[in-house]
Amino acid sequence: MKRALIFILAALLLTSCGQTEEHSATVFAMDTVMELTAYGENGEAALEAAKTEIYRLDGLFDRRNEDGEIFALNKNGGGEVSDDTAGLLRRGEEIRALTGGAFDMTVAPVMDLWGFYGQDYRVPDGAELAAALEKVGGEVTVEGNTVTLGEGTLLDPGGIAKGWASARLMEIFREKGVTSGLVSLGGSVQALGSRPDGTPWRVAIQDPDGEGYAAVLSLTDTAAVTSGDYQRYFEQDGKIYHHIIDPSTGRPADSGLRSVTVVCRDGALADGLSTALFVMGRERALDLWRESGGFEAVFIDSDGGIAATAGLRGLIRSDKEIVFCE
Ligand code: ADP
Ligand code: MG
Repeated sequence: MKRALIFILAALLLTSCGQTEEHSATVFAMDTVMELTAYGENGEAALEAAKTEIYRLDGLFDRRNEDGEIFALNKNGGGEVSDDTAGLLRRGEEIRALTGGAFDMTVAPVMDLWGFYGQDYRVPDGAELAAALEKVGGEVTVEGNTVTLGEGTLLDPGGIAKGWASARLMEIFREKGVTSGLVSLGGSVQALGSRPDGTPWRVAIQDPDGEGYAAVLSLTDTAAVTSGDYQRYFEQDGKIYHHIIDPSTGRPADSGLRSVTVVCRDGALADGLSTALFVMGRERALDLWRESGGFEAVFIDSDGGIAATAGLRGLIRSDKEIVFCE
């Protein structure tokens, strides 16, 4: 079990006001601990519906679940899927195109080689890597609910599934009449509205080197997703091997970053981008930010330096100096 990535600074119960009840639940799904919080009289019903939805999506998206849709696609090279799976894959493919392949769900064969499934970790040799890389980068076609995979292509939606799920939970909260809530699915945080007292949510970015936090974001109605090299990794011969793979080398991305946090309204995009920007490194990530916009980001580099995109001015605090990038 990976360490909690982002600590949510307590959204304090408004005891003085007395009306805004806090409802919360902890769920273990998608290989991580999820904390759900919803405020107000509909909170309990919203949490129940949210839990049901998380388990349903986990069942569909879990590569190892033989009754799941990703499992079936990988086994059969394609097939008919639900709107959820089709939507997830379409989104994943958009992010692959947007990031020039830095995000690529077809890294599955390489993930398997490193043993990130089943935690059967090992360092593959060059020939094994080359063979696995042959199967990376293939086609993923989604037409309506029909998915077609290229020869040998296998999908791993792990870099986007939690963000996709958190976005769905926001819809469920809204449908149930909740206007203030927060979900934290491992490293994927998504906020609905503001805190019950109208102030922004406070979301901490973990210090990659310690148990504390490196910075705190003030957020309203948005997602904040962190990818870091300390979330899931193993050590061999004094070297750390983490779980964010550079699809161009088949090796753990080595771009000089310890973590990337992406802030944007869409949880799935935030999740996919956090993985991709980690692979791309700060300079390429900033180029993408300047070109395409639509998100903000915080970078913590190997020597602990913190940089953030200019849109986060006034929304991020740290005891350390933060360099804002234009
Ligand atoms: P976490 O799942 O720990 O929150 P990420 O969102 O960064 O972290 O996703 C990492 C997961 O994404 C890996 O466990 C793997 O399933 C998948 N993955 C790893 N590298 C890539 C990549 N370059 N593109 C797409 N998915 C990836
Ligand atoms: Mg991700």
